[in-house]
Parts: sequence; C-alpha cells; structure tokens
Amino acid sequence: MPDFTQPSEIAREVLVRLAQRRMQPTPDKYLALYHEISGTPPTEIFPERALKGLTAALPRNTPEQAKLARQLDQAVADKDWNGIKRGMEDVFARLGADPLNWSTLLKEVLAQLDTHSAGLTTAKKRESLDHILSASAQPDLLFQRMQGLLRSWTSTPAAGGEALIDPASIALPPAAAAPQGAAPATPASPSASTDLSSAQWRELIAMILDKALPPLLAESPELAAEAAGLSKDIRNPVAAGKLDEFANRLKKFIYRLHFVAEDQAELRAALLGLLRLLVENIDELVVDDQWLQGQIAIVSDLVNQPLNLRRLDDMERRLKDLIFKQGALKKNLNEARDRLKAMLATFVDRLAEMGTATGDYHDKIEQCATRISQSKDIGELTDVLDEVMRETRSVQITALRSKDELTEMRQRVSEAEKEVARLQNELAEASDMVRQDALTGALNRKGMDEALDKEVARSQRQGSKLCVALLDIDNFKKLNDTLGHDAGDAALVHLTQVVRDTIRPQDTLARYGGEEFVVLLPDTILEEGVNAMVRVQRELTRKFFLHNNEKLLITFSCGVAEQLPEEAPKDCLQRADQAMYLAKRSGKNRVMAA
Ligand code: GH3
Ligand code: MG
Ligand code: MG
Repeated sequence: MPDFTQPSEIAREVLVRLAQRRMQPTPDKYLALYHEISGTPPTEIFPERALKGLTAALPRNTPEQAKLARQLDQAVADKDWNGIKRGMEDVFARLGADPLNWSTLLKEVLAQLDTHSAGLTTAKKRESLDHILSASAQPDLLFQRMQGLLRSWTSTPAAGGEALIDPASIALPPAAAAPQGAAPATPASPSASTDLSSAQWRELIAMILDKALPPLLAESPELAAEAAGLSKDIRNPVAAGKLDEFANRLKKFIYRLHFVAEDQAELRAALLGLLRLLVENIDELVVDDQWLQGQIAIVSDLVNQPLNLRRLDDMERRLKDLIFKQGALKKNLNEARDRLKAMLATFVDRLAEMGTATGDYHDKIEQCATRISQSKDIGELTDVLDEVMRETRSVQITALRSKDELTEMRQRVSEAEKEVARLQNELAEASDMVRQDALTGALNRKGMDEALDKEVARSQRQGSKLCVALLDIDNFKKLNDTLGHDAGDAALVHLTQVVRDTIRPQDTLARYGGEEFVVLLPDTILEEGVNAMVRVQRELTRKFFLHNNEKLLITFSCGVAEQLPEEAPKDCLQRADQAMYLAKRSGKNRVMAA
C-alpha cells in the first residue's frame, strides 16, 4: 500500500476509500478514515453541537434558572468539561431546594381578599393585586411581591416591616385635637382642620422612614437600621430637651441618604453606559448574524431611551417572542439542512454504486472479448454472446434504475433547498420585526436610521431631492395626564394611521421617539414637502381622534428640511428638528421650512 504523507493526498485517498467502502461521507467517518490513512491517533471530538442542543432546551424562566443555563452555555462554549460538571452539580443541588409554594399563597390571598382589614376595602385590595400581577413578569419576583402584599393586608397599618404601602391603609392620628405624642390608633376622618397636628406629621415621617425607604436601602443595611431606629423614636413622645438631639440625628440621616441616592444614580448610569457599550460593540461584530442582530436591535432601542418599567416589560416580551420564534426557525432550518445533507450523501453513494457496476461490466466484457478471440467453435461463441447479452441487460437495468432514482433524488434535493430558502426568508422577516415600533407599527428609530441612510444615498445617486419632516404632537403630556396613558397610546396609533393614509406609498413614516415622528419624502422639493405636511395637518382636522365617543383634535408642530448635496443625514434631520422647534415657539400647530 502506498504511503501518503501530504494532507491533500490523504484527503483524496479518504474520498476514494469512502466510495470503495460505500460509506456515507459523514464528517466522523471522514475523520476516522483520515486518521487510519495518515496513521495518526484519532483525536477525541468535543460534542459541542449536541451539548448546545441540550443547554438550549434548559428552562430560563427565573433569574436563577437563567443564570445556571448561562453558566452551562459558557462551559460548553469553552469546551470545559470541568465547568460542565460543576454546572450539572449545581443544577442537581437546586433540585432539593424549596420550590415556591404557590397553592398555599394563592389560598391565603383568596381568603384575605374578602376578609375585613382596617382601612382597606375589597376593591382596594383587588386594585393592589391587579397592579402587582400586571407589573411582575418573573415568577419568583411575583411570589415575593404577593407575599409582601399579603403581609400588608394582615398586619396593622403601622406595624412596619417591608409591607407594601397602600394609600388607603394610611392611618393618621386625629388632627389638632390629639394630645402631643398620643399613639395613633383610629383612622382619621377627613378633618376640617387646615393644618396637620405634630402627631400626624410624626406619623407621616415615620411612615416614610419605615415603609418607603427600606426597599431603596436594601444595599445599605446600616442606613436601613438607622431609618428603623428613627421611625421608632419619632413615634414615641420626645422629651422637649431631646428634640434638638433627634433633629440632628434626622439631619445627619438625610445627609447620608442623599449620598446613597447619588451613588445609586451614578451606579445606574454607569451600568447603562456599560450595557450601551456592549450592545454597540456586539452590533458591530455581528453584521452577518441575523439571529443576534434582531435581539441586539431591541436592546439598543431600549438603552437609547429613558428607562421605565413599562418599556422594560414590553421589551422583555418582544425579546422573548423573537428568541422563541428564532429558536423554532433555527430548529426547522437545521432539520432541513440535515435532510439535504443526508440526500447528498445517498446521491454520492448511488454514483459510487453505478461506477462499480459499470466497472464490473467492463471487466466482464473484456473477459468475454478474450474468450471470443480465443474460441475455437461456434458453440463456445454462443455461450460467450449469451453472457455478453446477460451482462449488458443487467447493467442497463441498473443504469435505468439509478437514472430514475437520481432524477427523483434531484427533485427532492431541490425541494429541500427551497425549504431552506423559505425558512431563511422567514428568519429575515422575523428580524425585520425589530425595525418596527411595537405600538404604532411605524418604523422605529433603528428602522428610520436605515431608511434615512438608504434614501439619502438614493437621492445623491439619482440627483433627486429628498425632504425630511419631523413632527411633534402638541400638548401631548396634557392629553396623557387628563385622559390617561392608554388614551395617549390610542392617539399615537390614530395619528400614525392618518399620516399613513395621507402620504404617498413611496414616503416613509417612522416613530422617532415618544410623540415625535419623522416622514421621509423622496423626489420632493422643500415647498412640496411643506405642502405634504400641511395636508396631513388638514386631514387631522377632518378625521378626529375618538375617545369615549368624544371627538378630540390632535395637532402637531412640524419642521421640514430639504437634504443638501453632501449633507450628512443626521445634519438634515437636525435642521428639521430646529424648524420644528421654531414652529413650537411660534405658537404650535404649524409647519415650518428649515
Ligand atoms: P409640546 O406641545 O411642547 O410638544 O408639549 P408636549 O406635552 O407634547 O411635550 P412633552 O415633551 O412635555 O411631553 C411629551 C409626553 O409624551 C410625555 C410622555 O409621557 C408622553 N409619551 C411619550 N411616549 C409615550 C407613549 O408611548 N405613550 C403615551 N401615552 N405617552 C407617551
Ligand atoms: Mg416631544
Ligand atoms: Mg409634544
């Protein structure tokens, strides 16, 4: 047997032997043969794909589960068997831990809902419960908060601890008439007095100290203890001589509290900065990875706006939707790819079989030819010819069968290819979701940035004019404050609809932030751009926003800028913004050209 030393020679020989032995050309078989031929010891393969599949299936519903799963993900990515072992040990150790006892908690909540508690109506209790249920998405957090709520229902209002504060449960000592320092007992009825008694002030301060502050001081136990001490002392009658001393303690406490608040704000800003940096960096690294791009877009959308819990919840929901959708797609895509690979392997097998069959046929025919040239009588010739006929027929049949099989297989391969392409398209669409604003369906900031870049490049290429309009709803805060946030949301959706119905199909609408929108108007000169936005304005006076069957007029102020040659997209947007600001300053409800 020849010795193979060059990797390319070994590789070629591997292919030859795979065909000879009619083995499917899988990576493992290829590797095994490679080592056999090169005489090198086979290396142990780390089953990364299988392990990734395993960790991907782990539940991540609670922060703890997510942390354990991440730990295992990392160990698999590092190909670290020890890490995997430690992770598994952790998982099994948690199995013995106490699960959340939901049934007992829910029974208690139900029982307490209709039980009379001081200063609390059933409706109030329902409201608090509703609030907690809609605000907490994580089971363990929800569990904790519901426990807290239950405690606040069952303990007396002044009992302290970390009970949740319900305004209806605040009981103050009676006004002015109360003797100094009398212990608060009965809930106050609305009093005619215009001022609070000192006992009432003390009770209110004590409540700030022992109800409002502890959740903020979770990471400063020393200060939390001081708050508890102060609240206890302030409820007790303070001897006149000790009043100064107490006031000094309170001042010192406030001073330290101020520092803690500043630290926390700084910490939050630093964490956000870090997250932003990470997101921007990943965004640059994953230009080709549609899977990650979608997720990163959602997070970067989030960190570029002021944080609020509602938005965080919304983002979490969208991220989960996307991850779920991508997970399912990825599974289908992998399966379709595997099917395709298996088919190609069979294809190669069949080709090899055909090669062998025709090779055998040539050998036989050669033998027959020799026998014919050496034959002495006609009887022998007939035998040889019979054999030639038999062999020819059999190779014909094999060839015909293989041809049919190959045609069918080619068809199946092309179907599988189409399936892969379809799934890839669907994935691209899923990732497109992240360019849209969830509330209005208009493009979001990221979508707008991309569209603006595209339109600017197009107008520069074609030498056409592009207008950028920026509109901001007038007095939107007032609408929100008087009619509620949901009505505000509905107004945003209404405006989006009216703008969409008024602009041309080639124009683009994007939500720039809060109640600000951008309209991109290609092939439009400044004057026409202004006219287009005035038309939208007029349309809004015809199509009223309906709230509880009441007609409301929504107006906006708008700035329009025409893209200058060579001008950066963001500069043009900034000019539109300045014009919009001028429109506000000149009395709102108008469109101004930049
Ligand atoms: P101006 O006429 O000067 O523009 O005043 P304004 O009240 O419209 O502007 P301001 O910037 O003071 O207030 C904007 C408000 O928009 C504040 C914020 O609560 C509200 N807002 C931002 N995003 C949303 C949203 O998604 N839904 C709702 N309902 N309100 C939002
Ligand atoms: Mg605004
Ligand atoms: Mg506004």
